[in-house]
Amino acid sequence: MDFELTNRQKQICLAAREFAQGEFPQIAREYDRREEFPRDLWRKACELGFIGIFIKKEYGGLGLGFLEHAMVMEEFWRVDPGCGNILLTVFGSELIQLYGSEEQKKKYLPPLTQGKAIMGTAITEPDAGSDILSASTLARREGNSYVIQGAKQFITNGSIAHYLTVFCVTHPEAESRLKRFGVILVETDRPGFGALKITGKLGIRASDTAEIRFSDVRVPKENLIGEQEGEGFSQIMQLFNINRVIAAAQGVGIAQGGLDRAIQYVKKRKQFGQSLASFQATQFKMAEMATWIEAARILCYKAGWMVDQGRVDPKLISIAKWIGGEVGVKVTNDVLQLHGGYGYIADYDVERFYRDAKIVEIYEGTKEIEKNTIARELLGKI
Ligand SMILES: Cc1cc2nc3c(=O)[nH]c(=O)nc-3n(C[C@H](O)[C@H](O)[C@H](O)COP(=O)(O)OP(=O)(O)OC[C@H]3O[C@@H](n4cnc5c(N)ncnc54)[C@H](O)[C@@H]3O)c2cc1C
Repeated sequence: MDFELTNRQKQICLAAREFAQGEFPQIAREYDRREEFPRDLWRKACELGFIGIFIKKEYGGLGLGFLEHAMVMEEFWRVDPGCGNILLTVFGSELIQLYGSEEQKKKYLPPLTQGKAIMGTAITEPDAGSDILSASTLARREGNSYVIQGAKQFITNGSIAHYLTVFCVTHPEAESRLKRFGVILVETDRPGFGALKITGKLGIRASDTAEIRFSDVRVPKENLIGEQEGEGFSQIMQLFNINRVIAAAQGVGIAQGGLDRAIQYVKKRKQFGQSLASFQATQFKMAEMATWIEAARILCYKAGWMVDQGRVDPKLISIAKWIGGEVGVKVTNDVLQLHGGYGYIADYDVERFYRDAKIVEIYEGTKEIEKNTIARELLGKI
């Protein structure tokens, strides 16, 4: 067993930290306030190779693993989660790389790393959130096309994406519910496609989120991801396996970023004639936060490492995602508390961090769904 990061991994983390520390702080508060996607920042990150590092070299990426992608996410979220979500502009490319045809890979992957295109993945619907098998967006076959009708809810990058991978019902007649779905790539400039940006989010406000409508959107049948029909559900499960690790890294990153700020603050702030750091209650709090973060980080790295080894472990992934979200929320709450009233106002990052952390317990599977997965693996089918 070797817990040492490779030199390459250490260099990637350092580069990601330097980029984030150099670029995010001066814009983070403003983009959060304006609820605007930081487009120039995203372009710069593409130029420097941070976006889609897991995409193979022949398709424009660096050919690294999901563990390295998670590490960059952690470093970005440590500085600012809203800005850090520029890394999600490739959300769904995992599906294209894993299951897409050679033509799809050549056409849709390189623009994502070159700063020429943004994508997302649309699974959630107004009446199908955690219960994704209830999705009803229908893609009916008409000759050489699919015609898509339906609605999707809370889609990251929905109003800025050039294309989306969309979870659709393609085989409503299939006996097994698991075989009724397909993932179809939809270019957002097709007639009948509509996106409405959602404003007023609690956190990650620089990350775009939208409601999507498909009103008879016609796409060529070649836009189906994967050669075999009816495989959409298992493809989406695989996407979750990867991206729950990435979400876990978000939780670790935001918690670490909170702790970094708390360390500085408690050393500086004096009450009762001494620094907050000198109170044992503060010291215990700091020790607890550091312990939770380290535990969450190790779980996240192990889950990511296993994905890269081709040994996907849904139980471990759900453990890592659940604990990552839990630690993010717990630690940012404590960090705000340590800042007292100053933590409660928008002039301090910790207010934003407190709001941003919650999403990790919701997207990519709520914490309850993660626990369902863990319990199912433990108990089997009951
Ligand atoms: C900012 C943001 C970005 C998002 N980005 C995307 C995206 O890019 N693509 C996408 O497809 N979706 C996205 N989502 C949607 C997200 O994945 C869903 O919100 C999430 O899966 C929960 O679905 P829901 O909101 O419908 O809640 P529901 O499923 O209605 O759940 C409500 C509550 O009930 C609980 N619950 C539900 N079922 C069970 C059960 N069986 N056992 C115990 N508890 C249960 C849940 O855990 C939750 O606490 C995003 C959401 C947000 C807020």
